[in-house]
Amino acid sequence: MLFDKRFQRKFALSDEGVTTVKKGTLWTVIVNLVVVGGMGILYLLMMRFMDTLIDGSPLPGIPLFLLGTLAFLVLSFITHYQQYRATYGLVYEEVKAMRVGLAERLRRLPLSFFGRRDLADLTETVMGDVNRMEHVWSHVLGYLYGSYVSTAIIAVVLLAMDWRLAIACLWGVPVAFALLFGSRKMAERNAERTKAAALEVSDGIQEALENIREIRATNQEQRFLDALNARIDAHERTMIRGELATGLFVNGASVIMRLGVATTILVGANLIVSGQVDFMTLFLFLLVITRVYAPFDQSLALIAEVFLSQVSADRLMQIYDTPTAEGVMTFEPAGHDIVFKNVGFAYDNEQVLKAVSFTAKEGQVTALVGPSGSGKSTCARLAARLWDATEGAIEVGGVNIATVDPEVLLGDYSMVFQDVTLFDDTVMENIRLGKHGATDAEVLAAAAAANCDEFVDKLPAGYGTPIGENGAKLSGGERQRISIARALLKDAPIVLLDEATASLDVENETKVQGALSRLLTGKTVLVVAHRMRTVEDADKIVVLSDGSVIEEGAPGELLAREGGVFARMHALQSASAQWSLQSQKDA
Ligand code: ADP
Repeated sequence: MLFDKRFQRKFALSDEGVTTVKKGTLWTVIVNLVVVGGMGILYLLMMRFMDTLIDGSPLPGIPLFLLGTLAFLVLSFITHYQQYRATYGLVYEEVKAMRVGLAERLRRLPLSFFGRRDLADLTETVMGDVNRMEHVWSHVLGYLYGSYVSTAIIAVVLLAMDWRLAIACLWGVPVAFALLFGSRKMAERNAERTKAAALEVSDGIQEALENIREIRATNQEQRFLDALNARIDAHERTMIRGELATGLFVNGASVIMRLGVATTILVGANLIVSGQVDFMTLFLFLLVITRVYAPFDQSLALIAEVFLSQVSADRLMQIYDTPTAEGVMTFEPAGHDIVFKNVGFAYDNEQVLKAVSFTAKEGQVTALVGPSGSGKSTCARLAARLWDATEGAIEVGGVNIATVDPEVLLGDYSMVFQDVTLFDDTVMENIRLGKHGATDAEVLAAAAAANCDEFVDKLPAGYGTPIGENGAKLSGGERQRISIARALLKDAPIVLLDEATASLDVENETKVQGALSRLLTGKTVLVVAHRMRTVEDADKIVVLSDGSVIEEGAPGELLAREGGVFARMHALQSASAQWSLQSQKDA
C-alpha cells in the first residue's frame, strides 16, 4: 500500500491510474512470456529437425506443430490486444480524469496560489505536463515494469537450465541499468533546465501578445523579437544538450547489453567444445536472449523518459499539495452585516492590513477611502474570502466566513470590480452569467436597469451580438454596465464595488451611477471609493492609511472634524476639481 502511494505520487497518478498501470504491467509480462514461449515452439521444431537430419528418423507431427503455431498466433494476438487496451486505451481515461481533476482543483485553490504561479506556467502544467505524463503512463510504465518482471522470470529459468550461459547472456543488463541510473541526476537536472527554458519562451510569447499594443505604439517590435529569439535559442541549446547526454547514455547502455550476445557465443562455444553443453542449448539461449533484449532496449529509452518526467510530475503534485480553501456547505447568517475584527493580512511577507476593525451594516453603503496602496481593495477581497485573513476574523451576520465553503459563500455576494471579465460570447450570455438559468426576460430586465439598452441597441444584433474576446469591442463604461447588470440579475444581499472612474467620461459616469443606485438599495454595500460624490452619499466612511483604519464615521461627522484626514482629503479633491474647471474655463 505504502509503495502504491509513493508510486502514485512519483507519477502523479490517480487511484484508478495505479490499477491501470498494474494491469498494463501484468499484460506486458504475459506478452513477453508468450513471445518467449513462441521461441520454445521454434526450438522444439528445430530439435526434431536436427534428429531427422542426424539419424534420418521421420519428421513427426507436422500438423501438431502447425496447430501449435496457430495457437501461438491466436494467443499472441489476444495478449497483445489486451496489453494495448490496458496501456493505451485505459490511459486516455486517466488523462481525461487528470485534466478535469486539475481544473476542479485549480478552481478550488485560494487566489494566493495564482499570485505565485503565472498564467503561462499554469497553462504549461495543464497542457504540457499532463501530455508528458500521459506519454509516460501509456508508453512507459507498463512496458518498463512488465519487462522487469518477465526478464526476472526468464532469468530464473535460464539460470536453472545452465547458469554459466545465463550469466554470459545477462550480465549486460545490470551493467546497462547501473550506467543509466548513474546518469539519473544529470538527466533530471537537464530536464529541469529545459523546462525552465521552455517556460521562459512561453512567458515571452504571452507577454508579447498581451502587450502588443504598447509594443507597437513604442516601436519596440525589434527589441522584443530579439529578446524572444534569444530565449528560443537558449531553449534549443538546453534541449540539444539534454538530448545529447541522454542519447549517449541510453545508446551506451544498449551497446553494453548487446555485448551479451558475443559473450554467450564465446562461452557457449567453449562449453560445447569441452562437451559440457550441447549445441541445441546454446541455440535456445541465443533465441531467447534476442527476446530479452528487445523489451529492454525499449526500456532503456523509457527509463530516460521516466527521469525526465519527474519534473512534470513534481509540478503536477505541487498543485495537488496546495491546500484548497475549504468550509461547510451551509451559510445561514443572521442578517448581512460585515464585521472586520482585528484583521491582519499579508500577501507575501509584507503586512498589508494591520488590526483592521469596522462594520459595514446591512442596508447601508460603507465606503473605504484612503491613498492608493492603503489596502482598500485588499479589504474588499478579504470580505469575499477571495483570500483568507491571516489574523483576526471577518464575520457576516455573525458567521466567520473562513468556515464557509467559498463557493457557497459567494452565492451571497455580487462583485463589481475594476477588471470586469467578459467572455467571448453574446451580450445576453455575458449578463446571464450573473444567475444560472435566468430567463431571457430576467436578463433583459436587469440589462435595462443597468442602462445597457442604450449601447446594446446600437450593436448589429442587439443582445445577440458577440462581444469579442474579453469584451474587446466594448468601452470601459459599457463593460462596467454589463458587470452591473450581472450583479442586478444575481440580486445578492452583499455588494462589493470597486469604483473605477478613470476610464469613464462624464455622460457614461452618470449612466453607471444611475445603474448602481438601483443595484445598491437595501444591500450591504462595501465600496472602494474614488469619487467624492460616492463618498459624500455613503452612510459610513472608513479611512485607511497604510493598512490601518485611522478614521471612521458618517461623512458629515468626518468633514466637521478639525484637522481630520478625511476633511483634508476632501478639501484637496474639491480644490483640484475647482482648479480643473477653472483652467478649462480659462482655456
Ligand atoms: P488600494 O486598493 O488601497 O490601492 P490594495 O489593497 O490594492 O490598495 O494594496 C495594498 C498593498 O498590497 C499594496 O502595497 C499592494 O502593492 C499590495 N498588493 C495588492 N495586491 C497584491 C497581490 N495580489 N500580491 C501582492 N501584493 C499585493
